[in-house]
Amino acid sequence: MSIQAGGLQVPVSVIIPAAGSGRRMGGGTAKQFLPLRGEPVLVRTVRRFSECPLVDEIVIAAGDVEATRALVGHMPKVTRIVQGGAERQDSVWAALQAVHSRPRIVAVHDAARPLLTADVLEGVLQAAADHPAQVVAVPVQDTIKQVGPDGVVVATPDRSTLWAVQTPQVFWADVLVRAFRQAIADGFLGTDDASLVERIGVPVRVYRGHPGNLKLTTPTDFRLAELLLEEEARQC
Ligand code: C5P
Repeated sequence: MSIQAGGLQVPVSVIIPAAGSGRRMGGGTAKQFLPLRGEPVLVRTVRRFSECPLVDEIVIAAGDVEATRALVGHMPKVTRIVQGGAERQDSVWAALQAVHSRPRIVAVHDAARPLLTADVLEGVLQAAADHPAQVVAVPVQDTIKQVGPDGVVVATPDRSTLWAVQTPQVFWADVLVRAFRQAIADGFLGTDDASLVERIGVPVRVYRGHPGNLKLTTPTDFRLAELLLEEEARQC
């Protein structure tokens, strides 16, 4: 399907950067290929989008294109698997260039976040009809300190203003393309896609998600994710 925006049906493309090496997991296999309750992380992540009725196409940026194609190339809505780059931002840019160019909404979602729920995904996509840039995020629970290179605290920002940002991050395609072109021209490397959009002066809104939308980074994250999936299975 697609999103109804300004009287138009706007198609939705999803970009999944999946070209990371997963060094922090240890071992030789990239984390998106590791099994989570018997199924590779990437398969679980792609399925969340394949099953969402609002999504039209899924473009994946892969480190190993052939292995990725063998794993998820047959899944519904997967249209392209492109070669990713050295940094996450390079991988997203490679996939963005493979997305169809007519007006559309683009959602970027980390391969390493297989626990995204259908309600948050549909909610943030629907909200994109009215806002050109928004990110799924949760209010932080911990007090956050800004620390200098000498290990000494510089500042304690007011916690009530701080949100931990996740993916999906959802944009009107023209805004995202403009943001990437500007970042490339300036040699700017961001740790998320929204930071590129903020630089071109487009307001980025937060869409409240769930803390359970973990990014799998360490073996502990995998164990926690397995527990959350068990709970999800019990509820079905
Ligand atoms: O390394 P990190 O956990 O921040 O990566 C977030 C996502 O970006 C992962 O899904 C990873 O596969 C992807 N990535 C990528 N290309 C890179 C580095 C990371 O697609 N060069």
